[in-house]
Parts: sequence; structure tokens; C-alpha cells
Amino acid sequence: MEEARSRQVVIAGAGIAGLTAALAFAEHGHAVTVLEQASQLEAVGAGIQLSPNATRMLSRLGALDRLRLSAIRPEAVVLKGAATLRELARVPLGQAGEERWGAPYLVAHRADLQAALTARMAEHPEIQLVTGARVTDVAVHPQDIAVAAETDGGSIEAAGGLLIGADGVWSSVRRLLAGREPAFGKNRFSGELAWRATVAATSAAGQAFAAIAAGDCITAFLHPGFHMVAYPVSKGSAFNLAAFTKGERIAEGWSGHADPAILASAMRGTSPALARLAALAGPWTAFPIHTVEQARWTMPQVALIGDAAHAMTPFAAQGAAMAIEDAATLADLVADFPGDRRQNLSTWENRRRPRIEKVIRRGALSRLAWHAWGPVAIARNLVLATRPAEKLAGDLDWLYGWEERNRR
Ligand SMILES: Cc1cc2nc3c(=O)[nH]c(=O)nc-3n(C[C@H](O)[C@H](O)[C@H](O)COP(=O)(O)OP(=O)(O)OC[C@H]3O[C@@H](n4cnc5c(N)ncnc54)[C@H](O)[C@@H]3O)c2cc1C
Repeated sequence: MEEARSRQVVIAGAGIAGLTAALAFAEHGHAVTVLEQASQLEAVGAGIQLSPNATRMLSRLGALDRLRLSAIRPEAVVLKGAATLRELARVPLGQAGEERWGAPYLVAHRADLQAALTARMAEHPEIQLVTGARVTDVAVHPQDIAVAAETDGGSIEAAGGLLIGADGVWSSVRRLLAGREPAFGKNRFSGELAWRATVAATSAAGQAFAAIAAGDCITAFLHPGFHMVAYPVSKGSAFNLAAFTKGERIAEGWSGHADPAILASAMRGTSPALARLAALAGPWTAFPIHTVEQARWTMPQVALIGDAAHAMTPFAAQGAAMAIEDAATLADLVADFPGDRRQNLSTWENRRRPRIEKVIRRGALSRLAWHAWGPVAIARNLVLATRPAEKLAGDLDWLYGWEERNRR
């Protein structure tokens, strides 16, 4: 009985981190309860880029084949000047990328990723997903944990040997345990806004996009203090657009509203064709970019993963990839060394930290380079023009070619 409880895993949150963790632990024979506050799973946001380090894990967990049915494997990442629309650099993806990194670089609608993960979860009867259950209380004992969640008109409890806080950047688990573990991080507004829109390929906005970029690539338009990334989703029937500007603090959540004048002002000086695309693509949804400062992610019987642990700016397009890696590596470590849970969790955290910190630094560097102006932008363009595509791809080997090799 005690053994059964110790193998029971409770996960708060059914985002990308929580769903992947449920699969990863179930693959290792754990019983899993996932508590999700939303009454039904919603794919917040629109598109997502899944780099090979993430798709390799999804393949291991049996979710990649389904995802490939709806995802697109773009041919390249293309960087363009937003004012001139001139191509600055091209990093080959497609078949070349898949061969280089041993797994595909995909773009997909978030709903497609969610559907692939939940379809695979349905093959694991030991996973129980409870929607409409908002975690409101957590008790941590020396050997186990107990979680209380509010449901529509009632409450439920779940207990087990391990609690995984996968409840996102505004994590309740992190907040509820902050008194017990003061070293858990705090959430901070980064001062930037992400603007999102999805446009049908056949719409006027879709045609405006097709006029300035290839429909089978990820294109990033760079400008001082601004950039926009665009790529196909839903088998090319739509394009996902995400623009990034400085901005004011707005309500938390994925579907906020901010003054469109902020976007228009950040786009001043961009090409009229890009400005036209932005106008046709509206209304835009604004999302305040919050990060979680570098701090601890584990305490005895509890691990924070994904955005709950280390939400980062999206400039390396790696937040979800890191959540997927977190989930898979945590399940491996707990399964391989079932003995001392306290030791296992801190070993996992210590191993993950250097990689997460490097990815955060990479995101900061991308932001600096992509939003550069004046002499820095000129130097950037020169470097990009002279660096062969092969070398640009090689610069990403540490990130996309990563595989956890050194298990204990
Ligand atoms: C504009 C933008 C573009 C991005 N693009 C990319 C990209 O291309 N590639 C990439 O890898 N990453 C990208 N990211 C980052 C990525 O979206 C996040 O890192 C990822 O979604 C985090 O997943 P998560 O599961 O940790 O958190 P979330 O997706 O936030 O999921 C948390 C879940 O927990 C639930 N929850 C919260 N509180 C409770 C509670 N008290 N009880 C129960 N449930 C609760 C929530 O309802 C939610 O379902 C992007 C981010 C932004 C802002």
C-alpha cells in the first residue's frame, strides 16, 4: 500500500509540461493524477515551434507520429530586415535539419500538440486527468504529499509520493509552497509584450503574408525594438504570426488586450507591405511576457517543471521544449533511481540547471541581435551575411542535437 502511494504522482496543470510529464511517468509504470483548473483542455496561444530536442522526446514517448499528421516540417528559418524585406540569413531545417539533429524541426498549432499528447495518454489507463480542478492547497509530509483542489461546487483531494508543479508561470504550487521553500523563484514582468494573430492562408492577410515570405518557412522580420515571426500551421491552411514589442503590464493570461497603438508605433519604419500584413491580421491578442527568476525548482517530494520553474522570454522559442525535456528527464531519473527521492530531485535540478541557464542566455542574445539598431544592427547583418548556412546550423547543435546521455 505504501509502495503504491509512493509511486503515485500528482501533477498540477495540464499544459505542455503537465501532459508530457503524465506520459513520461506512466511510461515508467507510475500511476498519475493530473489536476487542471480549466473545465476543458484549451490550447492557449496558437502556433508553436518544436525543435528537434523536443520532438526527439515526443518520439520516445510515442506522441510524435500523431503530431506529424498535422504538423509541418518547415524548410528553413529565414531572417529578413523588416524595413527592406531583404533576406539576412537562412538556417536550413527540413530534411537536412532532421538528418543533422536526428529528429524533425516542426511547427504546429498548439491544439495539434495537445491532441497528440492526449491521444497517447488515452492508451495509458493509469493516467487520470481531472479537469475543472484548481489546486488550492498543498501539504508536504516527509514521505508523501496531499493536494486539495476546488471543483465546480466541491473539492477533491489527491495524494501520492511526488507532486509536480506544472501549472505555468503564475504557478499556484510555487506560491503555496513559497513559505516552506523560500528559495522558490518569483514571477517578474519582463517589460515586453507578445502579440499574436492567426490568419487563414486564403484571407487577405494570408495573401499579404505570401507576398513577402515563403509559406513553407519560419520567417523572422527584424527591426529596432521589434520583431515578428511567422510560420504555417494546420497543414499550411493558416499562418501563425507573433510580434514582440516593449509594453505596459496588462492582465495576466494568454488572451489579453493591449493598446494596438503600441504595436503600430513599434512597427514605424518597417516596410509598407509588412505594415499592411499587420493591419489586415488584426485584431491582435496581447500577452505580457513574464519570467521566473532563477531560483530552486525542487524541495523534498515536490518538483516544479516548465514555466512554473523557469519561465523564460520566448526569443529562443524554447519554453515548451524545455518543459518537454524537464518532464522526460525527471521521469527517467525518478524511475532509474527509486531510492532516495530527496536526493533524486536535487540531482535532477542540478543537472538541468546549466542547460536551462544556457538557453535563457541564448534567448537574451537573440533578443539583443534581433532588436538591434544602428551600428549593432549593421554588424549583425554583416556577420549573418558572411557566416555560411552550414555554420549557422552548427551553432545550434548544442541546443537541437541535445540528448540526455549521462544517466547516473
Ligand atoms: C508568444 C510566445 C511564443 C512562444 N513560442 C514558443 C515556441 O515556438 N516554442 C517553444 O518551445 N516555446 C514557446 N513559447 C513558450 C511556451 O509557450 C511555454 O514555455 C509553455 O507553454 C509552458 O508550458 P507549461 O505547461 O509549463 O505552462 P502552461 O502552458 O502555462 O500550462 C499551465 C497549466 O496549468 C494550469 N493551471 C494553472 N494554475 C493551476 C491550478 N492552480 N490548478 C490546476 N491547474 C492550474 C493552467 O490552466 C494550464 O493549463 C512561447 C511563449 C510565448 C509567450
